[in-house]
Amino acid sequence: MNVFTDEQVAVWKSQLEQEHIISKMLSVIKVFKDSLIFDCPFEFGNEAETFIWNRETETFKCWNCGAEGDIIKLYMMMRSIDYPQAVSELSKKTGVTLETKPETDTVQLIEANKYAADYYKKQLKKNTAALNYLLKRDIAEETKEVFSIGYAPDALEGLYRKMISEGFVTDVLERAGLIVKVKNGTNAGNYIDRFKNRIMIPIYNTRKEIIAFGGRTLSNDKKQAKYMNSPETPLFQKRKTLFACNEGLSSDSPIILTEGYFDVISLYQSGIRNSAATMGTALSVYQARLLNMISDNTIIAYDADNAGFKAVMDAGLIFRQTGISGKALKIEGAKYPDEFIEKFGADRFIKAINTAEDVSDYIFNGLKKKYRQANSKESQMCTFAELARFVSRHPSSLKRSAYLSGIDTALYQLWLTKQIKEA
Ligand SMILES: [Zn+2]
Repeated sequence: MNVFTDEQVAVWKSQLEQEHIISKMLSVIKVFKDSLIFDCPFEFGNEAETFIWNRETETFKCWNCGAEGDIIKLYMMMRSIDYPQAVSELSKKTGVTLETKPETDTVQLIEANKYAADYYKKQLKKNTAALNYLLKRDIAEETKEVFSIGYAPDALEGLYRKMISEGFVTDVLERAGLIVKVKNGTNAGNYIDRFKNRIMIPIYNTRKEIIAFGGRTLSNDKKQAKYMNSPETPLFQKRKTLFACNEGLSSDSPIILTEGYFDVISLYQSGIRNSAATMGTALSVYQARLLNMISDNTIIAYDADNAGFKAVMDAGLIFRQTGISGKALKIEGAKYPDEFIEKFGADRFIKAINTAEDVSDYIFNGLKKKYRQANSKESQMCTFAELARFVSRHPSSLKRSAYLSGIDTALYQLWLTKQIKEA
């Protein structure tokens, strides 16, 4: 296992005087403009000058035996040592040190998460209640595999004990967010598993490494949060992460942005494989830019309730601030994408994708509808104020005038009355 990232090694290598190192290890026979020629150090008695160091690419190749690589590889081969050892020795010799501490740390956390994910997967196979829950949600075997879905047993220290027995240290498990220290009671000071009796869904980074988990409780206890994510760790910042379909997002089709991982999983299973989720927080500027980098077409498919509409309004604001154009999808007759597909099928959902509105229009029309459906004068005024604010602050003058003409007489009269009253 390498404890350095490619980027770190590349930076470090660029600081080394590689020609100096190689000419200390081998005697240079000839020097050309772009290469140094040596006898091959790996072929005893061969003095055919087939070993060439390319000064431009800083790599070697022997035309006779085929040995090739970079300075680290050469050092490894000459000294018969492994990669981390070669880096460490070269660091010492040259005085150019490769900072490894933080990276070693993240590598350890990633390893811990990987082990935990395997453990959760094994536990799922043993737990009937968890299996039944997934069955009830129509999660197929293949989907379970693709998303590495698992189960955290209802035990205080199931994972903790197992991982300690495997040689993991408490400190790493705590920093990975897998265990927590008990604050009060008889167990105070002890460590216990963070996730208990939950369906576990690993969250990956773009390098397909597990950086966190999302857990859906199977408990009926109302005090338990329905969904719980790993805490913020050196690996995981919620606002910088998108839960995305594990096959990777494609720029070929629009990205469907949902609120939860089960929406992504359900869409995946219905053949709609280009979706991502924000995992229970408002869309951040970072996430919006991330989406925009992948595809210029993002379609928001949030829950159909008030909270979902509010979330679309917040996302719309982020889109306008960052100059990203996006669309929003109407989920009529269901509470969320998952339920919509279950009720009406994937085809209807794809139809809805194709007729999704521009996110600003969606918000404008949504506010108008909210105004008409308001059940008190007060909430009506409130909604109108929201609408007026939305229209007046929209950065596009074209949109502003379109919305103004879209406000019907009743709305306008109400606004006018309010203005007169306030004057
Ligand atoms: Zn050779």
